[in-house]
Amino acid sequence: MLITIDGPAGAGKTTVSRILAQRLGFRYVDTGALYRGVALAALAATIDIADDHGLEKMLKSLTIGFVVRDGVTRLMLNEQDVTDKIRSPEVTMAASAVSARPVVRQHLLTVQHALGSQKKAVFEGRDMGTVVFPDADLKFYLDASVEVRAMRRFNELKGQNRQSISQVEADIRRRDKNDTTRAVAPLRAAEDAIVIDASDLSAERVVEEMLTHVQQKYPETRG
Ligand code: C5P
Repeated sequence: MLITIDGPAGAGKTTVSRILAQRLGFRYVDTGALYRGVALAALAATIDIADDHGLEKMLKSLTIGFVVRDGVTRLMLNEQDVTDKIRSPEVTMAASAVSARPVVRQHLLTVQHALGSQKKAVFEGRDMGTVVFPDADLKFYLDASVEVRAMRRFNELKGQNRQSISQVEADIRRRDKNDTTRAVAPLRAAEDAIVIDASDLSAERVVEEMLTHVQQKYPETRG
């Protein structure tokens, strides 16, 4: 069984996907981390995000993937653990820009298909249910108001970030615009996705709602 969770930045996908995967004994795959990894590599190599040739050349020699260490999933880039480096505001904005490049999406499509071949996984991203796994068994689209998403992100980043709440909200609006208006694989709910508005729901409540759908469709997952 393969479950997809799509939605805009800050809707709570990561928390919810992690808990859901844990409850089901599934793997959890954060595909945003792959875009962040590519962005970090492009920044480190000073490749212009609009330079498709440069990006293509870089991707050819890039190894990117996940390893689980002490129960925590780490992102590896050319054998280096970059899990902590990919969360900075600079990488976040570069990931949003890099994800609009078809050459990057095509490359990561292959990576994601390989990761999905084992099934029993929860995949989180923007185009999981629409493009990467259109035949997924169960698709969710998690949404929340921009104000709630900005506040959650702000609280998450506290201590490691000098951004004000209004800066965080402006970044989220910019990423929403990039994600929904790009030509390739724009962010949208798949036609057969179950849409959940998490503006007033805790992560636990969202997971309970998702589990109800999973158990309705697959009674063997009960208990
Ligand atoms: O989910 P996260 O915020 O970590 O994703 C980083 C960036 O990667 C997002 O801004 C989004 O533009 C991009 N992304 C994407 N498709 C995915 C996952 C993430 O375009 N499946």
